[in-house]
Amino acid sequence: MGTLEGKIALVTGGTGGIGTAICQRLAADGARIVTTYMNQEKAEKWQADQDFESTIIRCDVGSYEDCERLREQIESELGHVDLIVNNAGITRDGSFKKMNADKWSQVIATNLDSVFNVTHQFANGMAERGHGRIVNISSINGQKGQFGQTNYSAAKAGLHGFSMALAQEVARKGVTVNTVSPGYIATEMVMAVPEEIRDKIIAQIPVGRLGKPEEIAALIAFLCSDEGGFITGANLAANGGQHMH
Ligand code: NDP
Repeated sequence: MGTLEGKIALVTGGTGGIGTAICQRLAADGARIVTTYMNQEKAEKWQADQDFESTIIRCDVGSYEDCERLREQIESELGHVDLIVNNAGITRDGSFKKMNADKWSQVIATNLDSVFNVTHQFANGMAERGHGRIVNISSINGQKGQFGQTNYSAAKAGLHGFSMALAQEVARKGVTVNTVSPGYIATEMVMAVPEEIRDKIIAQIPVGRLGKPEEIAALIAFLCSDEGGFITGANLAANGGQHMH
């Protein structure tokens, strides 16, 4: 029997490169998977490709109203959420000179507001029931900053402030809140980068390779397990040694 048997896991952006690995791993550990989509065609194909049962709900995580509807649908169809992985995220890069208000607000809404919008629906219920796990997916670029990513770095750094603050509020209620900050992971997006540029990226990673989505998923599965219960308010880096602090 998996360690997450009987648990309902909400993974935002579960149809993406890292999200898919997270859903697959949590499902293998016994959790019932609920995820969100924006692109219906992609979502239907994704669901058909998976070998576990899942519920997939249209939701813009940048919209509080959408997230309220998400909660209503999950609670009426399935029950209460035990685990949240706030994984949905986008980039809209540009040097600060070329950064505009649209790129700024889209990235802040999808990567940072989303964490409030989604978590606010479920955290009180978790605290009342005395158990819950919340994992927020940040990035190495939220820890060290990145040229062309003032918006993304700000959102991803802000997200860990959220984790630390909420972790303190719910610690006594059996709810943990943590941040996971991946480095470069071999998702389709990164693998689509020309090999020459990819090799330059890899040269900056002490372990000498890209991370695997499954490695990020395994870390999240541990944080979600009962054994992860003493870890809260942490920012766990999984970046092959590219940034240490
Ligand atoms: P992908 O681009 O592969 O997937 C992103 C997912 O987020 C998709 O499922 C997408 O759904 C969903 N999404 C985007 N916008 C919204 C929205 N407004 N509302 C709901 N869902 C939305 O990303 P990755 O798997 O590469 O990244 C996952 C997380 O990991 C992100 O937070 C990213 O910042 C972070 N990260 C990734 C790294 C990497 O190397 N790949 C490195 C460090 C951090 P749809 O396609 O339907 O729009």
